[in-house]
Amino acid sequence: MTIETFDFKDKKVIVRVDFNVPLDENGKITDDTRIRGALPTLKKVLEGGGALIIMSHMGRPKTNPDPKFSLSQIVDHVSASLGVPVQFCNDCQKAQAQAAALKAGEVLLLENLRFYEEETGKPRGEFATDEEKKAAKAALKPRMEEFTKTLASYADVYINDAFGTAHRKHASTAIIADYFDADHKLFGYLMEKEVAAVEKVLNDIKRPFTAIMGGSKVSSKIEIIENLLTKVDNLILMGGMTYTFMKAHGGEIGMSICENDYLDMALNIEKKAEELGVKLYLATDSKCGDAFSNDCNVSFHPSNNIPEGWEGMDIGPDTQKMFAEVIKNSKTILWNGPAGVFEFDNFAEGSRAVADAIVEATANGAFSLVGGGDSVACVNKFGLADKVSYVSTGGGALLEAIEGKVLPGIAAIKGE
Ligand code: AMP
Repeated sequence: MTIETFDFKDKKVIVRVDFNVPLDENGKITDDTRIRGALPTLKKVLEGGGALIIMSHMGRPKTNPDPKFSLSQIVDHVSASLGVPVQFCNDCQKAQAQAAALKAGEVLLLENLRFYEEETGKPRGEFATDEEKKAAKAALKPRMEEFTKTLASYADVYINDAFGTAHRKHASTAIIADYFDADHKLFGYLMEKEVAAVEKVLNDIKRPFTAIMGGSKVSSKIEIIENLLTKVDNLILMGGMTYTFMKAHGGEIGMSICENDYLDMALNIEKKAEELGVKLYLATDSKCGDAFSNDCNVSFHPSNNIPEGWEGMDIGPDTQKMFAEVIKNSKTILWNGPAGVFEFDNFAEGSRAVADAIVEATANGAFSLVGGGDSVACVNKFGLADKVSYVSTGGGALLEAIEGKVLPGIAAIKGE
């Protein structure tokens, strides 16, 4: 059963989307890529004569409710994007009456699922021991089932279009699928496209295959990096993690970001790359600032010889050229994470150079997959999103899929 052929007429359809969009301090959406990504699925249901119940998480709320993470802030935007009024239910567990009253063509958005710890199954609070935490988790399990059952009760059909959370076995992303038979659970269009892009990168690898990983920390990407090492020909590591590698070799990094607990890990990655015959590329020069701001003073230094009082905030011109050369000679490219503090225009040049090289390689026939919130924000900032092969909405989900892991959100629909 696919979304394209399903008859939605007079059906109530609950759709898990990823509306975890970035908001500014006034609650205004700064990048609506994720909302736009779900529109084809949502419109298909409405045009097919169905009624929509939309559910999503936003951020990591610690309480119920937590106004900072309320989806009420995006109701107007979703309504304008869909071109129909959107009703709101301020408690995702109390939508029975509103869901029951929905008519064909009407839309109901549920409040942030993660206001409830039942959504993730991860108990809130501090635990003195692992045993205590385990006990809390076990106690939460039956409540998680009740929570899921309530969500499922609102609808006749379940659609998962939230690729960004497909790697989580949460109530709304996986467990809910158990309450629908094989003919009443579907992937949305976005999910279908994401799965196809991942399969292309996994099963149809044209070499050289280059993975480009950036961002602030090595610690959050260590597993992915280790896994990618077994698949790629070239690995470019950039962004803040550069300086952990430089320090591990005794380099001077001034006040650059560094994870001192990961120095050995950095050396280990280098060793593994060598053993596996993967070429590892790190920034040789850095554009540095004397404060973490766009308007600070700027100077250029070798990445392993940054003076006191200066901080590496972007790759330098030599590195831009070196990375661009590797990228342009690649046939499969995966990009996750910026080259520098791209949010500041004065430190966005390195990420721009990387993006330009990916665009050029793509024009010359390479398959390029860009994923992870910040790299997506990067290609959008530079207006290059339609010049790469595919921009994924998934960060962690994309990378786990690339590792070859079975994603619970995908397995649940396929009935695996
Ligand atoms: P991550 O969430 O780990 O993918 O990191 C993304 C963030 O890394 C972005 O907000 C960038 O501003 C930041 N970043 C990239 N390069 C650096 C750097 N050299 N120093 C500090 N932060 C950086």
